[in-house]
Amino acid sequence: MARYKDEQCRRCRREGQKLFLKGERCFSDKCSISRRNYAPGDHGQKRAKLSEYGTQLREKQKTKAYYGVGEKQFRKYFEMASNKKGVTGENLLQLLESRLDNVVYRLGYGTSRAQARQFVNHAQFEVNGKKVNIPSYIVKPGDVISVRESKKDNGTIKINAEESSKRPVPSWLERDTEKLSGKVIRLASREDIDIAIEEHLIVELYSK
Ligand code: SF4
Repeated sequence: MARYKDEQCRRCRREGQKLFLKGERCFSDKCSISRRNYAPGDHGQKRAKLSEYGTQLREKQKTKAYYGVGEKQFRKYFEMASNKKGVTGENLLQLLESRLDNVVYRLGYGTSRAQARQFVNHAQFEVNGKKVNIPSYIVKPGDVISVRESKKDNGTIKINAEESSKRPVPSWLERDTEKLSGKVIRLASREDIDIAIEEHLIVELYSK
């Protein structure tokens, strides 16, 4: 239905920032945030002041939308993050960055996380030589992620690889676009994660 056509862009407008949900369009002047950076709806231009709870909730919703993760799974990541040593909010972001669909996206083989997830679901990728079709698979340092030999003629992945070879990959990853592969050098640290998320608000929300 036409009214849902720009649902992803509406999510960005609701959060007032780019969430990079639509691939190349997000980097072009067609991006809705560049054109209409106000919330969707009739009263979108008057942003209501949020309560403390509302601010925390929005931060969680924004992070879920950015990584394309549902509530149940997000909660599970939060529990995993709380049980790990270190700062819970940073652990949470590190776990989300370590998802296989995110890594495929960060390596540039998918133009968006949604596209990368679809490739993983369709068993286009392998980790350390073994087929993995689970987008939530958590990678670890030393893992090698590659397009499976039988899928190397996937035109879209090849085009994405060609386009992305002009852009750098995050320093925690290494990419070999010739081989359509990449390696996890180390886990992402907070400084590597470029989205403006105040993760402490999510921790506060779940700690209530
Ligand atoms: Fe739409 Fe992408 Fe811009 Fe978000 S960042 S508004 S998804 S084009």
